[in-house]
Amino acid sequence: MTPPPDTDPLRLPLLGRNAAAERLVRERTWMLEQRVRELERERQDLGRILRGLGEGVIAVDRAGIVVHANPAAISMLGLDTTSLLGSHMFVAIQQPGVCDLVEDVMRGDEGRLVRELVIEGPAGGDAVLVVSVRPLRKAGSEDGEAEGAIAVVRDVTELRRLERARQDFFGNVSHELKTPVTAIRGAIETIIDDPDMTDEVRARFLDGASHHAMRLSALVTDLLALARLEEGPGALQRTDVDVAGLVGEVLAGAESTAGRRDIVLELAVETIDGAPTFTVQGDEEALRQAIGNLVDNAVAHSDEGGAVRVGLARTGEVVRIAVQDNGSGIPEDAVERVFERFYRVDAARSRARGGTGIGLSIVKHVAQAHGGSVGVESDLGVGSTFTLLLPVS
Ligand code: ADP
Repeated sequence: MTPPPDTDPLRLPLLGRNAAAERLVRERTWMLEQRVRELERERQDLGRILRGLGEGVIAVDRAGIVVHANPAAISMLGLDTTSLLGSHMFVAIQQPGVCDLVEDVMRGDEGRLVRELVIEGPAGGDAVLVVSVRPLRKAGSEDGEAEGAIAVVRDVTELRRLERARQDFFGNVSHELKTPVTAIRGAIETIIDDPDMTDEVRARFLDGASHHAMRLSALVTDLLALARLEEGPGALQRTDVDVAGLVGEVLAGAESTAGRRDIVLELAVETIDGAPTFTVQGDEEALRQAIGNLVDNAVAHSDEGGAVRVGLARTGEVVRIAVQDNGSGIPEDAVERVFERFYRVDAARSRARGGTGIGLSIVKHVAQAHGGSVGVESDLGVGSTFTLLLPVS
């Protein structure tokens, strides 16, 4: 950068001493101003970076006074901005876990300390934070007394929740797989060990093994469907799907199971302005499975002589499929949870009828993958209505 013209050093010898000194002062002043401007620019850049960081950053001086806290730290720790800077950390931060860690770092010579803390989150509920604190030392000095400390805070609440969900999922899958495998093995070993058993007893064991093999197969099919849906919307093979036709096919498929228990299946199509179209852009197999799961559940939870009614309607650009039964209904505290994987109101009953506990979870994933949703209204002892909403495109 060139200095202003009247401070051009080449012109200095031509001028008197006072004027030269004055010029020198002006030049130095100009250079200092430049430096101050540069430093201010750097300070603003640094401020922008700290403000934009997803991690919380808090800096304290040697006396434990807070000298900096970025917005992420303020929101994660629920700090009060009015009295933050200039206050002692124990007053300003009010999270003993964080402050103790900072003190430990400033007192000791371990360097960096990291701890995972569970605090009451600003929005209520537990928040899991990983706090990493380093001492601040003079540039170039690796040891010696700390000038202060810097704490970096990372919110891992969601990460820990996902890890727990994954562990629960594997625990559940292992348990669900183990039960039929053990039963099949038991039946086969008994048959092998007892060559003299009667044909009737042998047939009973084989029936049992076959029932559990079918459960195993249903579980693996459902798990594969879930895995495919969890790959995201890209895994779907979208075509024009006529939902009315699909519902008709699903009902025809459920006819014999329903008939065995005198359960009536009905289809009610709500027609607006003559003949509405129920065509959606979707994955036919996934939609068939979602509607099938709702109809199968409605039949399974209906009493003998009950009725399952599927209502099909179109409102604007949304197709609504409502599967209604007058069966057992769902207890109020369970309604929220029925879409969770492996959640069942009565696990033993679900297993006995070959249920996998993930049918509704698949329905929810299918709905979401199509940009739609699924909900339920249920009265215990009166019946349930599951409603699947699918956008036309
Ligand atoms: P399952 O294989 O057990 O049917 P789902 O995920 O399909 O698994 O359903 C989860 C649970 O929701 C079921 O175990 C049952 O308790 C409850 N449920 C689902 N549909 C109905 C219904 N139509 N009526 C009453 N309860 C139902």
